[in-house]
Amino acid sequence: MSAFSQLRLDGVSRRFGGQDALTELDLTIEAGEFIALLGPSGCGKSTALNCLAGLLPLTRGSIWQDERRIDTLPPERRGFGMVFQSYALFPHLTVRANIAFGLRMRRLPKEEIRRRTEEAVRLVRLEAHVDKLPGQLSGGQQQRVAIARAVVFEPSLVLMDEPLSNLDAKLRLEMRTEIRRLHQSLGLTTVYVTHDQEEALSLADRLVVLREGRVQQIGSPREMHTRPANWHVADFMGYRNLWRARVEQLDGARVTVESSGHRLLGEAMGDLRAGVDAVVAVRPEDIRVDGPGETGNSMSATIEVVEYQGRELAAEARTESGQLLHLRTEQRIAPGDQVEVAIDPQRLLVYLADAAQGGE
Ligand code: ATP
Repeated sequence: MSAFSQLRLDGVSRRFGGQDALTELDLTIEAGEFIALLGPSGCGKSTALNCLAGLLPLTRGSIWQDERRIDTLPPERRGFGMVFQSYALFPHLTVRANIAFGLRMRRLPKEEIRRRTEEAVRLVRLEAHVDKLPGQLSGGQQQRVAIARAVVFEPSLVLMDEPLSNLDAKLRLEMRTEIRRLHQSLGLTTVYVTHDQEEALSLADRLVVLREGRVQQIGSPREMHTRPANWHVADFMGYRNLWRARVEQLDGARVTVESSGHRLLGEAMGDLRAGVDAVVAVRPEDIRVDGPGETGNSMSATIEVVEYQGRELAAEARTESGQLLHLRTEQRIAPGDQVEVAIDPQRLLVYLADAAQGGE
């Protein structure tokens, strides 16, 4: 393994025609970290991954493995493992031969090929299937072969581009745990592309959220979840309630806003002043139905739509002034019910309305 202690992307940019697909990506990855690149379709995730892999030349910037510049090296000289959405297995080769293929190409000694292949097979729990052809495997098993093939080299870095998106929901959850387990047991440094925020939150040590090719925020799952840098990141992190508002008053980090006729108390996220346009962001689970009245934000609303989601209900409600609320609750509610909702001011985040390209 060509080990490194840090991998550094320095101003990595890529243009296609006249269009910026990725702009000035700065990111330092520590050995052993699991990084998720996250963002909506077209935000530049795959472009970033392909630049790292060496499949795409950079338009600007550089990539460093410790003191060694690597962005000028072809993919095969970077020594990274890769797993894609399409498994790209050789259909005429058995599972074992697929996994061993790269080692054979590198002309490793026979005994070492055998040892490493068996180890990789064990890691992804395919012992019972080594003599089958890919066509005889389920999607999840095929993806395991692809993962084994990527880690059999003991690469210094593994790049994964939406590896689970072809699998059904149950398998996706199983494979998620599997990938996390592999990462932990091998101490692999991993960069993982996904548009699924839950997947990213559950897998990664740090998340990089991209939007229109620019980094919006880099942080731990917890930071991303509780302190999104701007309302676009909040939107992406599941803050389904995004309301236009106007700032009335500031008191340190506490801010009072007016939104659709409601006066709300919240946390000021960033540089706000009285009179500016703002966006209020609240997660559905932070709108409490018939919650204790002691918090600053209570509103009356009528339940309009209810949807069962396991133990919880997801519901839409409308306040008297017409504000639509997305909420989740374990309370038994039904369309037509009049409810009092409450929002803890610490869970009501207020952003500058035009803070589209917020800081990190
Ligand atoms: P998805 O989740 O849909 O794969 P993504 O976040 O990975 O999206 P990229 O594939 O990196 O996004 O694409 C970023 C932008 O660059 C998009 O606007 C895309 O249309 C453009 N782009 C990507 N590859 C090419 C290419 N080979 N030629 C021209 N434009 C491209």
